[in-house]
Amino acid sequence: MPDKELVNKYKDQTVKALKKCLKQLKPSNADPHEIKYVARTLRDKLQCLNYFKKTLCSINPNKLFYIPSWIPKLSDPIVNFELQPPTYRQVTNIIRRMKASGSPCPLDQLSIICFKRCPFLRTYLTEVIRSVWSSKSVPAEWKKACSILIHKKGNTSDPSNFRPITLETIPLKVFTSCLRNAMFSFLTANNFIEHQIQKGFTPNLSGTLEYTAQMTNILNKARIKQRSVVITLLDLKNAFGEVHHNLIQSVLDYHHIPKDVCEIIKSLYTDFNTAFITSEFSTPFITVGRGVLQGDCLSPLIFNMCVNTFIQHIKTDKYRQFGFITNLLNPVHWFQFADDAAVISGQDSENQHLLNRFSIWCQWSNMIVRVDKCSTFGIRKSLTKSIQYLPKLLINNELIPATKIGESFRYLGKYFDFSMSEKEHKQELVTLMDDIMSEIDLKPLHPKNKLLLYSRYLLSKLSWHFTVTTLSKTWVSENMDSVVNKYVRKWLEIPISGTLSNVYLTSNKFGLNIYPPSIKFVQCQTVARNALKTSPNHSIKDLWKTTSENKNIQYDVYTSTKEVLKSFTSGQEGKLQNHLILQGSFFSNVINFSLSKLNGIWSKSQSNLPKNIYNFTIRYINNSLPTRKNLTKWGILSNFDCSFCLNPETLLHVVAGCQAYLPRFTWRHDSFLSFIAQTLQPVNNSNLFVDLPGYKSPSIVTGDTFRPDLLLSINSDCLLYILELSVGYESNLQTNVDRKRRRYEDLITQQKKQFKSVKFVNLSISSLGVFSKECHSFLDMLTDLGLDKRHQYFAIRKIMSIAIRTTYYIFCCRDKGWLNPELLNI
Ligand SMILES: [Zn+2]
Repeated sequence: MPDKELVNKYKDQTVKALKKCLKQLKPSNADPHEIKYVARTLRDKLQCLNYFKKTLCSINPNKLFYIPSWIPKLSDPIVNFELQPPTYRQVTNIIRRMKASGSPCPLDQLSIICFKRCPFLRTYLTEVIRSVWSSKSVPAEWKKACSILIHKKGNTSDPSNFRPITLETIPLKVFTSCLRNAMFSFLTANNFIEHQIQKGFTPNLSGTLEYTAQMTNILNKARIKQRSVVITLLDLKNAFGEVHHNLIQSVLDYHHIPKDVCEIIKSLYTDFNTAFITSEFSTPFITVGRGVLQGDCLSPLIFNMCVNTFIQHIKTDKYRQFGFITNLLNPVHWFQFADDAAVISGQDSENQHLLNRFSIWCQWSNMIVRVDKCSTFGIRKSLTKSIQYLPKLLINNELIPATKIGESFRYLGKYFDFSMSEKEHKQELVTLMDDIMSEIDLKPLHPKNKLLLYSRYLLSKLSWHFTVTTLSKTWVSENMDSVVNKYVRKWLEIPISGTLSNVYLTSNKFGLNIYPPSIKFVQCQTVARNALKTSPNHSIKDLWKTTSENKNIQYDVYTSTKEVLKSFTSGQEGKLQNHLILQGSFFSNVINFSLSKLNGIWSKSQSNLPKNIYNFTIRYINNSLPTRKNLTKWGILSNFDCSFCLNPETLLHVVAGCQAYLPRFTWRHDSFLSFIAQTLQPVNNSNLFVDLPGYKSPSIVTGDTFRPDLLLSINSDCLLYILELSVGYESNLQTNVDRKRRRYEDLITQQKKQFKSVKFVNLSISSLGVFSKECHSFLDMLTDLGLDKRHQYFAIRKIMSIAIRTTYYIFCCRDKGWLNPELLNI
């Protein structure tokens, strides 16, 4: 039995039923694979169930948490709590801000998208939320959720190596968000939460960026100015999960949260049930007896408020003075980001003192420090230089492991070591990129999809490292761009002599809308620098000012990531126009003479081409196709003469120049014309003349001197359209327009004697399907004839596609005989 069927068969079985199945399977001659599967599922399920029953059960349910005297009291609130139930507007704002990609709760499977789209649903939801708010009792139906398990690291059969994320139903999520917003505004308005020290989950404030920048600054100061610094990273065991429910009530009270709100929160945390689901099984509901859940909208704030009791204690000057002084008035002694804390001081003794205070707080709040997972790091002066040393610090009489000499510690995702070498980040970045790029490479995908995976998936994976590290742009270009370029060349079959500048343009300039890792890096650094610059914390703003020098200048000039990209693409454009004359000629010509509003459509037709023709267009654009001229340049051939006419075989020569190829160019021209004729044929009350077999000849109207490609006379309006089609190389787009206009001047004058109005449609298209500016007359004609925008764009796309395909065929047939194929009809 395949695994998928096994999963379906046993997924919803209870532990009891699984045991029974196993008993029956063993003696009967069942598939040993199935027996193994059932045994394993049973074991995993039991393990998971027991583990989470243990971690979620309440310990000492009656323990009370009186705020000790060493925690200073908060002053009475100046601004009152907004007790009114949430309004429709507030509910709508919350729903609008929720991520559409968030997983719905498996219990009701209602996605946030329904609520985003449907105002009626939001009206009902608001009513329900308002009545729950007023009744101060959260319904039991809402207090049911599912938890999924995200693997952290280590053995996958041990449940403690997973982080449970709770998926709640949308009504509960919206409700708790309302609660959170009301509480947060109250706390901020009264200045109850210290934002200098505690940064997790505060809106408009990028805590991780601020802390990593501050930490970098501290280490650099210590190293360069030979000052001593001791850093301890603290690790709380199962932090969110250990918060005692009675502690929450005390802490709410401490923060002057009104009784009514406390009651709502109490109701929320009483008899909350969650089931753990994996791909193989799901457990029954387990009551959450302690802790706040990860994935719940309110928990981060509740957790921060708990920690805030400690922060209020150590924010007094008595403890602040232990900190590391970066500028005169602002010693830094404590970083708190959710449950990630770092203690910073000048001396071991000062650090120890702060750690002791933390131990005492943990004892009071029932938090457990995992000393073996904590670490220390120290720098001190030795004679005339700074060195790293191993601090000896204790928590609960246990020695905290020190970061070994030359090794790094990791705080909030960034690695720090004595020499600030960033070697771990470099290694991780290179490995990540190599792994993902080689995996994309192996997939049997169209090159455009490989590029999409690169730009959407890989680049987003790199962005965190790029934001927190202090690498140089040069390092990124040398070590990462080069690898990406290698793959891009491989996928698009661009030879080493062909430039990638065309590829790195936006799609409305015939590029592929991608950019190299180094540009992503500059974007990330710009975001990071901007976050510091606009921080509400003055000390962070100062940090931005003092570090706005040297290499940071190149990021500080930008105000947005868009600007970074724009300056990059305009750099590529400059290169194509000024330095790469041959490879840039396509770009220079089309950018000046093309009808730019159709360029987006061109890019769409390009992306719909099969792989070989798609790659042909890319190499056509940067002039790296294997024409004889190029092959000679690359040293592969010694003679670049066309095998038919002895002129140099350039790209222009092959696709639009060679006199011996005229029947081929006519075939291409007539393929276009045939399609246009088919599009115009159904126009009512009109006469169509086309210079193609099977149609009335235009010379019936114009005589033999002029033979335009197509005539369309609208009888009722006494109107005549004269359409002349020319297909040529990109460098001749404008020349063809002018030539045709002069040539038909007399004909137009002549026809004006018979028709009330004569319109000349000068359709000049390049051999790769780019429309010249003059082609707007063609669009005007289609509009006048009653074709709507969609129909027009459809026709344009077809014409572009015919151009690319016929030119591709002509290119493939170079140096070969021509067998007069039928007109291309797609
Ligand atoms: Zn030739």
